Amino acid sequence: KVKVPSDIEIAMAQTPKPITQLAHEIGLLPSELESYGQYKAKVELSVLDRLAHRKDGKYILVSGITPTPLGEGKSTTTIGLAQALGAHLGRPAFACVRQPSQGPTFGIKGGAAGGGYSQVIPMDEFNLHLTGDIHAVTAANNLLAAALDARMFHEATQSDKALYSRLVPAKKGKREFAPLMFKRLKKLGINKTEPNELTPEEITRFARLDVDPETITWNRVLDTNDRFLRKITVGQGDAEKGHERQTGFDIAVASECMAVLALTTGLADMRERLGNMVVASSKQGDPITADDIGVGGALAVLMKDAVKPNLMQTLEGTPVFVHAGPFANIAHGNSSILADRVALKLAGTEDGDSADRVGYVLTEGGFGADMGMEKFCNIKCRVSGLTPDAVVIVATTRALKMHGGGPDVTPGKPLHETYTKEDLTTLAAGCKNLVKHIENSRKFGLKVIVAINQFSSDTPAELKLVEELALAGGADAAVASNHWAEGGAGAVALANAVIAACEGTSHFKFLYDLNIPIEQKIEIICKEVYGADGIELSELARKQVETYTRQGFSGLPICMAKTQYSFSHDGKLKGVPTGFTVPIREIRLSAGAGFLYPLLGDMQTMPGLGTRPGFWEVGLDPETGRVVGLF
Ligand code: ADP
Repeated sequence: KVKVPSDIEIAMAQTPKPITQLAHEIGLLPSELESYGQYKAKVELSVLDRLAHRKDGKYILVSGITPTPLGEGKSTTTIGLAQALGAHLGRPAFACVRQPSQGPTFGIKGGAAGGGYSQVIPMDEFNLHLTGDIHAVTAANNLLAAALDARMFHEATQSDKALYSRLVPAKKGKREFAPLMFKRLKKLGINKTEPNELTPEEITRFARLDVDPETITWNRVLDTNDRFLRKITVGQGDAEKGHERQTGFDIAVASECMAVLALTTGLADMRERLGNMVVASSKQGDPITADDIGVGGALAVLMKDAVKPNLMQTLEGTPVFVHAGPFANIAHGNSSILADRVALKLAGTEDGDSADRVGYVLTEGGFGADMGMEKFCNIKCRVSGLTPDAVVIVATTRALKMHGGGPDVTPGKPLHETYTKEDLTTLAAGCKNLVKHIENSRKFGLKVIVAINQFSSDTPAELKLVEELALAGGADAAVASNHWAEGGAGAVALANAVIAACEGTSHFKFLYDLNIPIEQKIEIICKEVYGADGIELSELARKQVETYTRQGFSGLPICMAKTQYSFSHDGKLKGVPTGFTVPIREIRLSAGAGFLYPLLGDMQTMPGLGTRPGFWEVGLDPETGRVVGLF
């Protein structure tokens, strides 16, 4: 067996081509490219107008079985497949992946550039900062948090008149409303344009948001696993005495601003969504938005460059869009609609093109298909109006054996020999997890290709067994793929299976109707996708359902925050658990992103660092200045 070097060694050994060259190869105009250094560029959204007449390329979601904490190679397979289609089968092929968060990069899992000979390069730039989009999201989120707390403070310490005269200050002797104030006046039904015309009663209603502190759902965010920020008290400075309140931090990639970035369909739409984000209710029970606080325009400005997808490349020089990075457990887990759209147009065909000119877009949904795929279908596709042609479900013998009763797989610890030697009995038992994911994909009307991400310890009998059980379980194809060790060449058989699956017509459908009650939507996901007996709402969640329904938000889709390690809410339940009821602890509203966000069990929205995080390995080579130890 040939030894495969470490991910970072492979990545560093390859010199990427200039991004301008790649852009030219895929048909972008120089004016549509904004380079960030030599190997990364942002792509202008105007390309969507220029190519609007094209028929989209084929759209394939890459998802997976319920993973171990090591990850089962969805990113690696997405990249390997793109390399096979693009560099070996001569098809236009685009991978669309999420930008990794610093949390996992320095925590347990490492980067997300793929692995082995299937990676995005330069992998250190991919994994850290990229073009600053996550920083922009963080800045926007925290500006809104600061604006909310400051507004509450000023309302608490000033009379109505003083508040109004400061909110609407006189310029050259004349009071003027800021442009966004007209939106608020309209919302309040005050039909006046001159600040001096407001009655005292109208002044009070206009100037006082009257935030009910108990209802605030807006947290500050940071892109670091920082468990000590989960619960904090703000307002402890001398000037703010008496205005302390408990709040907390979430990880930036679980924020609503990140979800907006991933789900938006353009600049104007993003502005609208950011303004519509609800941070709390007023004491009268009305939702308070970012635009009520006056900050929607500023948030859009902070995110105006972030909205453009980032172009990078694979080890084999094929294009990759890296855009947005919502986690798939505590957020909706899919890269951006805009990146997918740009890729689908670039991979698309024009009148007169031959059929084999059609290109392929591989977009990744995070974690198992119960998470990333369910949210891809029910949330992302609903917003984008795009319909996938097929789903690739990535499986490894390692994770399947764990679902068949194998011992826990723990990062940093050597694997038990079940995982390194042939064990057909445990493997066969674990395939039920794969079959449930196949059945779930069928519920969305999707064609299913199972990709067995091959490890060097897998035996031919093991690979054959998984193929057979996957086909018996309803997959359209099941193919072992060796792209980690061989690059795109190792995924040619898988790529051909994807091409074949995309030939037919797809019959994509959503799992639930938006117009049914909130609880019923949650229940459908829990029963149909997770295999639960039912759901149980906490007192708080029940109240929130009432509030959101009264406020007119009950028609939104559902974004479940659940552990990725089980179909159920309990990460310890492997395989295909049955006989469980899902506890819904809390439901948050993401009115701008456009979903309701139930938190299941004890799911945390700010991860913590373990005793031995990945950062111990990371450093700079003093001689070359290169990054070492990222994986
Ligand atoms: P996912 O996207 O499913 O979380 P990744 O593609 O990020 O998983 O892979 C997780 C890790 O596993 C990476 O470090 C990668 O290098 C490694 N890996 C993936 N596939 C293989 C394979 N076939 N053999 C060995 N290591 C692999």
